[in-house]
Amino acid sequence: MQSEGDNSNATPKGGLDGVLGDLAENLQQRIDEGEGVVEIDPKLVKALSEPPPPPPPPPPTPPRAENPETVAALEKIAVRIAGCKRCSLCQKRTNTVPGQGTTAPEIAFVGEGPGADEDAQGLAFVGRAGKLLTKMIEAMGLSREEVWIGNIVKCRPPENRAPLPEEMEECMPYLKEQLALLQPKVIVCLGATAVKGLLETKTGITKLRGTWMSFEGIDVMPTFHPAYLLRNPPTKKDCWKDLQEVLRHLGKPIPKVEKK
Ligand code: URA
Repeated sequence: MQSEGDNSNATPKGGLDGVLGDLAENLQQRIDEGEGVVEIDPKLVKALSEPPPPPPPPPPTPPRAENPETVAALEKIAVRIAGCKRCSLCQKRTNTVPGQGTTAPEIAFVGEGPGADEDAQGLAFVGRAGKLLTKMIEAMGLSREEVWIGNIVKCRPPENRAPLPEEMEECMPYLKEQLALLQPKVIVCLGATAVKGLLETKTGITKLRGTWMSFEGIDVMPTFHPAYLLRNPPTKKDCWKDLQEVLRHLGKPIPKVEKK
């Protein structure tokens, strides 16, 4: 026989269902005991009817401090790049484009090679594709100054053609050295040429995008090149998914992006 109030067989309840169940039981008991009017605090009713608030975003990690030795070593590489004659791309260049940004980045973006604007200014991603890359970085809640931006080849291929395998092979040691010094937590690999240069895979960018890969122990997220996004705007949503995955991976908050 179970005595009144013996709850030994009751299943413990949890969550909102449990709270509501307990409340209903308590009210029933008070009605059974003859309480005519049972008052419930309206704040409790409101709190119970609202979904629980989302967990707070993780606290932002403080930026790594720039190390003067790393800055100097990267400058030395840039000087070597400026004098490089390892392949025929040196013949038509106006400027070499070593890459730029913080020397202590969490994220490094790696593209294909300089175009006309980059060749004219000696800076990576400053043309039309670069403007979109800036928007992508800002959508991630970051600025260009907080990341590093570079390319597989440091000189402009004529007529903006893709760099040849031998040109990539000659230039890759510079990027390898740069990334070894920069030690980003994540490399965002922009487009098919960057994938070919950084990752030993024959899989195309459409299949590979959104999949974590690795380069010399650094996590790599392949995604579409901004120039491809400009030509194929519907693919921007896939790229945004990849960039959100990068933010999640780094424990960073994901900003809401307003649709225009
Ligand atoms: N496209 C690239 O891949 N790199 C640049 O720097 C500019 C355009």
